[in-house]
Amino acid sequence: MSVDVIDRLRDMAARADRVWIQGSTSYGDLLAETGRMAHALGALGLAKGDRLLVQVEKCPEVLSLYLACLRAGVIFLPVNPGYTVAETQHFLTDAEPALALVEQARVAAVEELGARAMSFVDFLALAAGQGADFPDPPHAPGDLAAILYTSGTTGRSKGVMLSRENLASNAEALVDLWKFTETDVLLHALPVFHTHGLFVATNCALYAGASLVFQRSFQPDAVLADLPKATVMMGVPTFYSRLLADPRLTPELCRGMRLFISGSAPLSPATHAEWRARTGHVILERYGMTETNMITSNPCDGERRAGTVGMPLPGVEVRVTGPDGAVLAPGEAGSIEVRGPNVFGGYWRLPEKTAEEFRPGGWFVTGDLGAFDAEGYLSILGRAKDLVITGGLNVYPAEVEAALDDLPGIAASAVIGVPHPDFGEAVVACVIPAAGAKLDEATIRAALRDRLAAFKIPKRVLVLSEFPRNAMGKVQKADLRRLHAGLFADD
Ligand code: AMP
Repeated sequence: MSVDVIDRLRDMAARADRVWIQGSTSYGDLLAETGRMAHALGALGLAKGDRLLVQVEKCPEVLSLYLACLRAGVIFLPVNPGYTVAETQHFLTDAEPALALVEQARVAAVEELGARAMSFVDFLALAAGQGADFPDPPHAPGDLAAILYTSGTTGRSKGVMLSRENLASNAEALVDLWKFTETDVLLHALPVFHTHGLFVATNCALYAGASLVFQRSFQPDAVLADLPKATVMMGVPTFYSRLLADPRLTPELCRGMRLFISGSAPLSPATHAEWRARTGHVILERYGMTETNMITSNPCDGERRAGTVGMPLPGVEVRVTGPDGAVLAPGEAGSIEVRGPNVFGGYWRLPEKTAEEFRPGGWFVTGDLGAFDAEGYLSILGRAKDLVITGGLNVYPAEVEAALDDLPGIAASAVIGVPHPDFGEAVVACVIPAAGAKLDEATIRAALRDRLAAFKIPKRVLVLSEFPRNAMGKVQKADLRRLHAGLFADD
């Protein structure tokens, strides 16, 4: 079993020299603040096993509240503050939180939906008047720590039940693998309602006794200003492409950096190469999901291979299976399945859905397609539901996107399947031109002929100015498919 998050926090708080948030908060302050918040939760009638919905703008206090919930045994349920009240209703009715902490302006609207709500500011004021010493009730590794809803507000967003051990085991593995130490300073610009910013970033720093340079959102100006104070940055691929667009990004600016990590969406080999050329640093790409925490990572020492997400984390097993469930050999593409202490216990109040996603022996079906190479590096080839089957042949979007991204003038690409009267589905590429570039469909299709088999070449190339993306920068392919569903209707 791993060391519990709160035991680790206590260890760090016992050390007077440990800084949690640069310029404001020591680990001792953090422990005291979590104690006051845990008392406040009790004063509001919340007890072990109750859910607390938290939908507020990013601030350091949200991280303290996450830890306070762990101390009190209250289940932390963060929700994207960008969701409308109507979108939030699903979480309220599905999770039945004992209390919803929201921004002041939202309290009345959330109460109208039948939930008990309180403004976050009022909660912080209540906590400020409490004692710092909190007697933590006993906790077991299997206790529920948090429920995170899967991203996407269309369709039914599912509550992912994560245990204390899920979080602790993953934090320990990542600290080891990424060589985090107490001298590290993590630039934290990710949202804190998602596994990446909440667990990967926060828990890695906490387990190492490292410090955070805390930013309330990702703003290239602020990130560029603070890079010289940091040693590690975790980001989604759009962080990297947006920073590359800024001429102030130089090797000099990144001189104190030890590690740049990317995840949550595919990092294009082109961005990987450009980052290396511009900064001298090789981005480390890793792969995970809300249900599993982190699954694979490129190595810290050793080759970080562009276009791959590296090897399984220590203690985590990964296999690629075919349609009949048989385990496939390296080089063969199939369904990615994972097993280990990182894997969640199930979807909240959805036992049948949970059972569907697990195979015998505790293997979770991620819904991603991928293949290992001969050296054990895993490549993600897309979501199973994004696989394009054209004229009976499988086309993996990631392969076509990589070929497109290599062409001059293409800043980003997304390949989808669109209903086609003859082929069932046709491969369609959506591309965004690089600044100042003019793209033309026939030239792009011709250029791909040297690189891809004929059946993989997009039947149409649509030049767009932007893609629909979610809060983590992931391209929403379902939206693209919906928008372009009628492309071949008259063929
Ligand atoms: P989420 O639960 O929001 O973190 O989304 C998890 C999904 O993001 C995974 O199932 C993958 O489809 C995708 N994902 C995460 N990391 C990567 C990566 N490095 N490359 C490609 N896809 C990724």
